[in-house]
Amino acid sequence: MNVFQEAEKLSTYLRKRREEGIHCVGFVPTMGALHQGHLTLVKQAMEECDLVVVSIFVNPTQFNDPSDLEKYPRPIGRDMELLLESGVDALFFPQVEEMYGSNYTSTQIDLGGLDEILEGAQRPGHFQGVANVVRRLFDIVEADRAYFGQKDFQQTRVIHQMKAHYHPKVELRIVPIVREANGLAMSSRNERLSSELRDRAGFIYRCLLKLKADIPLNGLDEALFQARRCLKKEEGCVLEYLDVVHQENLQPLDQMKEGQKAVVLVAVLYGGVRLLDNLLL
Ligand code: AMP
Repeated sequence: MNVFQEAEKLSTYLRKRREEGIHCVGFVPTMGALHQGHLTLVKQAMEECDLVVVSIFVNPTQFNDPSDLEKYPRPIGRDMELLLESGVDALFFPQVEEMYGSNYTSTQIDLGGLDEILEGAQRPGHFQGVANVVRRLFDIVEADRAYFGQKDFQQTRVIHQMKAHYHPKVELRIVPIVREANGLAMSSRNERLSSELRDRAGFIYRCLLKLKADIPLNGLDEALFQARRCLKKEEGCVLEYLDVVHQENLQPLDQMKEGQKAVVLVAVLYGGVRLLDNLLL
């Protein structure tokens, strides 16, 4: 595996590989602390592309809480072992100065308001940070396909919007959520849960499944009411939002019609850890 800390060196390497006949470059951006969710994205990229680049960059501009940034796990040795085992061609592991040097300027990207609702309302500036860093990474890697997890559903819509403006040729591939045995969506932040809470945290997914089953029986309003109650009654759980929205514009739906493209998005604080999940309806 080739490891690059400098954008210029990665670009040179990729240019050479393309000259040698590589057609499809796949790209998997991550913040590290890799788990089976990330590795599933990597595996799919390996199956569908001739060469795969993974990036690990804990992007400071998308953290609105400095202590969250500070506490973010950075087990780079273990991450490198996992990527070596999975056979990726290149790891891009830049330092902050490499990404945001003196000649870098971030822009206010038109995200069509997607950055101001749901997760964006809870974390002002978060999605501008995400859109800007992914734009910068796309500039560097110039991939044909880029892989993102459905786990961060709103993020996939934000990236879609950013790419339409700046990187229309990149094909986005969205990979289904990988879950722990109890249904908890895998996340680097799960490491911060005590083992007892981690075992119990499967209730989030169970509430989503129940909501999905309840909608045709009791209607959307009643199903949402019950699902919010189901989450709030769990000890240590603070509900931030649970909403049923349109899969593309993320606008709330007030009823479910036949064939409606809907998704339920949820964020909770559990034992002080923010957990996100979603389910297509
Ligand atoms: P992160 O390192 O948290 O920025 O995640 C990097 C990529 O992995 C993002 O596209 C995430 O949506 C994706 N990802 C994280 N957790 C999961 C999961 N449990 N299942 C599928 N994809 C995931």
